[in-house]
Amino acid sequence: MSLAPDEALEQAALAGIHCLRIPTPFAVGRVNCYLLEDEPLTLIDTGPNSGKALDELQSQLAAHGHSIDDLELVILTHQHIDHVGLVEIIVEHSGAEVAALGLAAERLAGFGEESEREDEFAVELMLRNGIPEEVAHALQSVSRSFRGWGAKAQVTRPLEDGQALPFRDRTLQALHRPGHSPSDTVFWDERRRILIAADHLIAHISSNPLIARPLDGSARRTQALVAYLESMRKTREMPAEIVLSGHGEPIVDHVALIDERLAKHERRREKIYDLIAERPRTGYELAQALWGNVAVTQAFLTLSEVIGHADLLLNEGRVREAGDGDVVTYETTE
Ligand SMILES: [Zn+2]
Repeated sequence: MSLAPDEALEQAALAGIHCLRIPTPFAVGRVNCYLLEDEPLTLIDTGPNSGKALDELQSQLAAHGHSIDDLELVILTHQHIDHVGLVEIIVEHSGAEVAALGLAAERLAGFGEESEREDEFAVELMLRNGIPEEVAHALQSVSRSFRGWGAKAQVTRPLEDGQALPFRDRTLQALHRPGHSPSDTVFWDERRRILIAADHLIAHISSNPLIARPLDGSARRTQALVAYLESMRKTREMPAEIVLSGHGEPIVDHVALIDERLAKHERRREKIYDLIAERPRTGYELAQALWGNVAVTQAFLTLSEVIGHADLLLNEGRVREAGDGDVVTYETTE
């Protein structure tokens, strides 16, 4: 029988893993960071770079008898700013080491320019998929206005996929699970069957497989949904009892949740295929047909979702890209 979510949190706390809920300015609400009371004393994810987040982090650490200065290791689960924004300040105070996926080290170190390039890449992708210029540029400004909540991170302990991180009381295995972002990494305590999964798996919302620039800096884009489905299938096979997420409550039955998400994506893929079969459409037209005005206000997110499914159909040979060279339309191959 599986645990209730609050029992799962209690059990994690007994294992020395404490959930700290840090405020963010984003629609997703608070981000879950985890204090690992072990040697070294460790914080997994930091919250965004804001005074409010820093104050709350301090007071929540104090409730466990610690301060930022005591931290010896910061582990970063992925490149998004609600998870890494405070890392520079924490390192200044504590001198903590920073562990993260080695493949992501350059991206994390070059935060300012890398974000600028990410935004340019997003604008180009939006224009190529039929999103109007004014919408694409408005979103670029929104993204720039959030830049201050991030910060660069110097990774001092680059991790490889599968690498074991030893602590006094436990070992965590770092596992690369790209999809939500190219750098998503989960941390597996095999003995306790606890998986710290951050945004790879969230109970109350389906993690967005956001299209991004690959970590190796190449000009191509990621097939984010294709990667995400593969990552979820790997996680499905793990005998986890508790999955600790980056937002919301812990997951106590990850197999059922993953099956639900896989089925949902399959239905959406078929719906998108049917829309393309009706007539060739751009990514933007597909997003509008599915979500109406949300395709404008959340243009990049909805476009990422549509392109993700189009990638699945492209890989299966059921649709192909056509269009006038500037804007891509999808059409069926039959
Ligand atoms: Zn994220």
